[in-house]
Amino acid sequence: MGVRGPTVVVIGAGIAGIGAAEKLYQNGFRHIRILEATGRSGGRIRTQSFAKGLVEIGAQWIHGPSPENLVFQLSAQYNLLGPDALLEENQKMDVGGHPPAIPVIYTSSGKNISMPLVMNLTSLYFEWLEKARNFTKDTCSPDASVGSFLRQEILRSSKEWDKDTCELNLAVLRSFLNIECCVSGTHTMDHVALCPYGEYTMFLGLDCTFPTGFESLVNRIKANLPNDTVILNKAVEKIYWDGSFQGRDSRAYPVQVQCEDGETFVADHVIVTVPLGFLKKHADNFLSPPLPLSKKQAIKNLGFGTMNKILLEFEKPFWEPNSSYIQLVWEGGSPLTEPKKDLKKNWMKKLSGFVVLEPPAQLGHILCGFIAGEESEYMESLSDEEVLFTMTSLLRQFTGNPELPPPISILRSKWHSQPYTGGSYSYVAVGSSGSDIDSLAEPLPKDKDTAKPSQVLFAGEATERNFYSTTHGALMSGQREAQRLIDRYPELGTAVSKAKL
Ligand SMILES: Cc1cc2nc3c(=O)[nH]c(=O)nc-3n(C[C@H](O)[C@H](O)[C@H](O)COP(=O)(O)OP(=O)(O)OC[C@H]3O[C@@H](n4cnc5c(N)ncnc54)[C@H](O)[C@@H]3O)c2cc1C
Repeated sequence: MGVRGPTVVVIGAGIAGIGAAEKLYQNGFRHIRILEATGRSGGRIRTQSFAKGLVEIGAQWIHGPSPENLVFQLSAQYNLLGPDALLEENQKMDVGGHPPAIPVIYTSSGKNISMPLVMNLTSLYFEWLEKARNFTKDTCSPDASVGSFLRQEILRSSKEWDKDTCELNLAVLRSFLNIECCVSGTHTMDHVALCPYGEYTMFLGLDCTFPTGFESLVNRIKANLPNDTVILNKAVEKIYWDGSFQGRDSRAYPVQVQCEDGETFVADHVIVTVPLGFLKKHADNFLSPPLPLSKKQAIKNLGFGTMNKILLEFEKPFWEPNSSYIQLVWEGGSPLTEPKKDLKKNWMKKLSGFVVLEPPAQLGHILCGFIAGEESEYMESLSDEEVLFTMTSLLRQFTGNPELPPPISILRSKWHSQPYTGGSYSYVAVGSSGSDIDSLAEPLPKDKDTAKPSQVLFAGEATERNFYSTTHGALMSGQREAQRLIDRYPELGTAVSKAKL
């Protein structure tokens, strides 16, 4: 390589790509370009102005904000968090992936549901989820799903419930499943594989948000890179690897990246951080020579679903001042049957509920609705007016107040229709396993082939076996691939250490 050091092209300016580039830069790599298809950095971390303040269109919480979590570590280091997030007692809290907020429950006929009933069901449901996490490939059938397991537990328990309680319990449990579909980013929990479910790892800590927006973290990391590192509106069409491509310096490079606009970039290494949703659509043509079968299979097998947000701004709150989560329970709903398919009529029944965004003095009175699956994708096809109308009718029905004033503004995410994302986040689907995640993460040519260094490396949330679907998983994956290259060029790190002396 000589003194110049290797040229690295990173594809995608989400937190995985920016994180990889920054780690390389800190370790002496000086020829780094990040090619980003869209007009902005951040990817699925996207903060936008709405109502009186800033809201998140993508990632909202640091899940498990405790010292082991890289996103938390950096955010604390850059002073991006509020005082509560930094409290030691909050960092030590074990919430099992679900914030301990006690919901205010609204039902479709305005009926009250007693708190003890909800509390009992919640603890029963969390026990089942815990049990689901204890399976391994040796203790369950490969085609078992989390959905089928939960159904079995629900059926067993329901035998002890009297008829009226049973109907209400089932309706509440249906709404819990709607939340679970949002957590897993899936249409139904029947798609989520049971055996590897427990491989997903949660850090301790009470989920927290960013007062200045999640994007401020991406911007802060990006600020450590030279200004011209990220090239926006530069969609990559194809990666040619295992070749010999002449650069402007007349050197031969093994990789050439071709962009949709015809521009090409040569490199020694490429780190691909595009979402699994993009790979699902383009896996056959994105690389030449093509991806090996094991990787294509992993891309096909792993799940990548949709979870969207519907943000509604109100002139005045209609909810109680201390509510943090409004859960919607459709009477007659049941987790034992899948919701009716007529999306036009029924899409809104998949809405799990609304988080009340805090603090209202800075943000305005905002409810943030969460909806997953095909219903969520259908919602993307509707106009703002149609969604606002449906939300108004729904809230009037659930509050029993036909005069409830409509929201004064609306903002939605549409992650499924974003061509360079194609959905929200990944999960381990029935028919796949954690080893598919490892296959996806494997570089080309494989690491073991020491004669040829890795040319195409893969990062992004879907490549982190234990932390997929999260921002910290994405950042860890970017740093993992950066480290792979850093290990390959120890002389660059030595040069940086000497320069610091
Ligand atoms: C609605 C929603 C809510 C979420 N909530 C949370 C949360 O509360 N907490 C949490 O930790 N995580 C959350 N997540 C998940 C989290 O946002 C992601 O896991 C993480 O941001 C993914 O980062 P990434 O770098 O892997 O991918 P991305 O952020 O998607 O970055 C990949 C980049 O690649 C670009 N790209 C794609 N194709 C090309 C191409 N051909 N050429 C060039 N560039 C290309 C894309 O435009 C994108 O910018 C949420 C996600 C969504 C959608």
